[in-house]
Amino acid sequence: MRQFRILSAFSAVLLMILLTGCSGPSRNQKVTDTGFFFDTVVSVTLYGAENEPLLGDCFSLMRDYENMFSRTRENSDIWNINHSCGKPVEVSEETAALLQMAKYYYELSEGAFDITVAPVVSLWDFAGESPHTVPSREELKKALSHVDCRKLEIHGTTVTLNDPEASIDPGGIAKGFIADRIKDFLEDQGIKSGLISLGGNVLTIGTKPDSTPWNIAIRKPFGEASESVATVRTAGESVVTSGTYERYFEVDGTLYHHILNPENGCPADNGLTSVTIISDSSAAGDALSTACFVLGPEKGMALVESLENTEALFITEDLSMYQSSGFEAQ
Ligand code: AMP
Ligand code: MG
Repeated sequence: MRQFRILSAFSAVLLMILLTGCSGPSRNQKVTDTGFFFDTVVSVTLYGAENEPLLGDCFSLMRDYENMFSRTRENSDIWNINHSCGKPVEVSEETAALLQMAKYYYELSEGAFDITVAPVVSLWDFAGESPHTVPSREELKKALSHVDCRKLEIHGTTVTLNDPEASIDPGGIAKGFIADRIKDFLEDQGIKSGLISLGGNVLTIGTKPDSTPWNIAIRKPFGEASESVATVRTAGESVVTSGTYERYFEVDGTLYHHILNPENGCPADNGLTSVTIISDSSAAGDALSTACFVLGPEKGMALVESLENTEALFITEDLSMYQSSGFEAQ
């Protein structure tokens, strides 16, 4: 009898060990890695110690995409297009897909989103060393004469930029596009729960392991990184923010930020300070957050309302908030 008790106590302990082994801490253990790509801090969070090796695969994918999409890295697809002097260039399928999407959002936003804005971006040189200078009207006019997404032609994987002085800057859509590709990769590996963060782009996979939604904070413009104005609950969606505070400089008390109006080459000046888009695709959210920022509160919100499964929060310089009809925050 005594032996039986000891044995059953032993089996109970064994069962507990087995149970924790299958569904306990190690399965739900958070594994995360952080890096620096595309000029910004990126991180991937998964659950389960057995998934840790996938983090390295995600970072090597990011490295591959950076090598394809970088404007500055010699022989990247984008560098090759920008140095093609109007001649056709062979690019990867991923680059062709990225450029096709960029063209789609150019049409959808009636030119507010235009990746051929690169000559103007170069003039402003937001990433450069201070002291910063404001480009002259003449400089802007000259650069603007080479901004026109219709000059970008894509046939399969052959890309032609029909203006030797034109160039492209995929910075307004690339992070979202890459986040989507990383999510595809992780889902193919059977991942049901995860979070991908590329700077202002957050893309979720499923829910948290306990089946509750993710809480994604929307940053307070110019606040501390930890200060938020709202929290969105997501289960698989993307949350992308374009904000003036991400890249700007000040000259004589005026703030000049990096989201440019392709009509005049100047920072979009319509009272907005950030636009957040919640959507299924992060590439769509990325392009739309930039596009809606340029379009401004009225036209930008009208565009969001015309799209399915797309919600937005617009924040103005005085921190007033405007939300789309289906936007839900806490
Ligand atoms: P985001 O942070 O996604 O809003 O992207 C802003 C970045 O996209 C800028 O730093 C520029 O590199 C580029 N950009 C600026 N203005 C535009 C525009 N109107 N259309 C497309 N890309 C833009
Ligand atoms: Mg964007």
